[in-house]
Amino acid sequence: MADEERPGAERFLPAGRDLPALRAAAAGCRGCELYRDATQVVFSSGRAGTPLMLVGEQPGDREDIEGEPFVGPAGRILDQALGDAGIQRTDVYLTNAVKHFRFHRQGKRRIHEKPAVGNIVACHPWLEAEFGVVRPRVVVCLGATAGRSVLGRAVRIGEERGKLQEADGRSVLVTTHPSALLRLRDDPGWDAAYDAFVADLETAARAAARAAARATGEATAQATGEAAAERAAD
Ligand code: SF4
Repeated sequence: MADEERPGAERFLPAGRDLPALRAAAAGCRGCELYRDATQVVFSSGRAGTPLMLVGEQPGDREDIEGEPFVGPAGRILDQALGDAGIQRTDVYLTNAVKHFRFHRQGKRRIHEKPAVGNIVACHPWLEAEFGVVRPRVVVCLGATAGRSVLGRAVRIGEERGKLQEADGRSVLVTTHPSALLRLRDDPGWDAAYDAFVADLETAARAAARAAARATGEATAQATGEAAAERAAD
């Protein structure tokens, strides 16, 4: 793949950095070749200021058609696991490392293809911009592609999963992608794999809640201190 095919998303970022501006600008991104065959960009769901951000790999067939992340079969597993971890889907920010669907055709079917490292790198400026706007306390990498984008290096899920680590001033937790769980649906290992996934989400949610509470406490203490200083100065 020639470099000119993947100039990167940086030049397509908007001047205004809020989620509506990012979502609108991403629709016109030509940072790599994936926009050509996909139906549309699939940016994210969720609000700025959400403490817990989940990063997946790329939109799948269903997401590509609907324009929303995690609305296909893997999304249903994620919804179930979030519920079992006591997390509302509306309380997380959901996005992907790569914003367009990569696939190849087999007859009438579109078969998912893992994004190349070049796609992950080209698309990374969108994720970096989302970090700046959403300012999550904890970022969960769902699978190796998300880990590669968030941590900027190859990630081995089996070795790193479930542990909180600090990277670029953020708490990051790596876990499996729900589509990997989907493949285990009728396997004897399903229960253990699913429970481990729920446990990882619980760990991340607890850490995000702790960090958000700490930040609120610090802001309150600072405001109280400033008010006291103003009274003293009067
Ligand atoms: S995958 Fe990312 S970098 Fe490539 S065209 Fe889509 S939004 Fe741009």
